[in-house]
Amino acid sequence: MQEEAFGISKHPALTGSLTPPSSVSRIRNFSPGPACLPQEVQHSVAKRCLSTNQLSSMYLSHRSPEFISILSRTKNLIKKVLEIPDSYEILFVHGGGHGQFCAVPLNLCPTGEEKATYLVSGTWSHRAVDEGKRYCDAFVVSSKNNDDTFTSFPSTFGIDPKSKYIHLCSNETVNGIELHRLPKLSNQGIRAPLVVDASSDVTTKPIRWIESNVGIFYACASKNIGHPGITLCVIRKDLIGQSNPICPGVLDYSKNVAAGNLWNTIATFNVEVVGLMMKWILDQGGIEEMESRSIQKSRLVYDLIDSSRGFYNTPLSSESERTLRSRMNIPFELANGDTDLTEHFLKESWEQGIVGLRTLTPFGLGRYLRASLYHGVSLEDTEFLVEFMTKFMRKQILH
Ligand SMILES: *Cc1c(COP(=O)(O)O)cnc(C)c1O
Repeated sequence: MQEEAFGISKHPALTGSLTPPSSVSRIRNFSPGPACLPQEVQHSVAKRCLSTNQLSSMYLSHRSPEFISILSRTKNLIKKVLEIPDSYEILFVHGGGHGQFCAVPLNLCPTGEEKATYLVSGTWSHRAVDEGKRYCDAFVVSSKNNDDTFTSFPSTFGIDPKSKYIHLCSNETVNGIELHRLPKLSNQGIRAPLVVDASSDVTTKPIRWIESNVGIFYACASKNIGHPGITLCVIRKDLIGQSNPICPGVLDYSKNVAAGNLWNTIATFNVEVVGLMMKWILDQGGIEEMESRSIQKSRLVYDLIDSSRGFYNTPLSSESERTLRSRMNIPFELANGDTDLTEHFLKESWEQGIVGLRTLTPFGLGRYLRASLYHGVSLEDTEFLVEFMTKFMRKQILH
């Protein structure tokens, strides 16, 4: 199935292989996720796994004093990194971003009939409403163009003021559309809290919790803060305790908060990895430094695209569209999507250790290649990619 979707050729680069030839000394992983951890964090994780005088959290009972201290340390670090006010609870939950697509209405809509507005700005927020509408009366405000693309953010003037909550995705991983700051809807007299899917941009910019009236903020770990199997969920305390009676226990915020996040077996090892990531972020200079690095890395790629005289192009190109360009995921095509040249590009980049530029998504192969620049991608990795892209372009133009 996968091979069919990627075309008939069996070159590993065209099957989405993330393993370059063995002669390559360093893999540069630009995959949209799961992603790599920064090298320093990889080393800390390896050290913890191999430690012989202190059990790794992989093997710790989740109710042991050792793990409880890892859990509380990790939550304190998250609180510090994201400057989360005391009026919020932090939970680690199972089920990824998809789990939250249904957990949100199941926790906030006691009868399942309550209205909720979903701002749809791309494939992920669309998926969120597809799942969420089974448990609430979902009202959709979408910015989808007639040709099924997304190049703008939906107008917040379409929001139903009687909504229980307003759901949005702060970074559309597939479409490359990002809100660099969350909106302040109170300016429009909207009192409903925001529910934010920050799966692919968490810890890359400050969150204005109170000003933006954030009710729930969730992110699967596998892009910027860890590996698959754990989801961060930050919930404003006043929203806890109104779940629909059919809400399964593992998804129920109040049950999990009441049990100290140990209602069932928490993903122990994943918690520790998230903690190591948070420590790394703080050691590097915190959220401001993370944001400035993200700006710097993404600018390198966008500048090349914009100066390539159309050899490369990216979907958000007009003045107003550019303000929504994602710093995390940069969709691009070359030579207007020319199949042969694109395959050539993928093979040649893979041979140099550049992987993950074309992966299969739940939404198919898609028109664009994509460079994802999460925390695990260093400035040096990004420079390596840009240098490759520049040389590739020059060769074609000289041809
Ligand atoms: C990856 C992603 C998800 C899905 O997360 P899962 O862990 O696969 O459920 C949801 N939303 C966004 C924005 C994502 O990038």
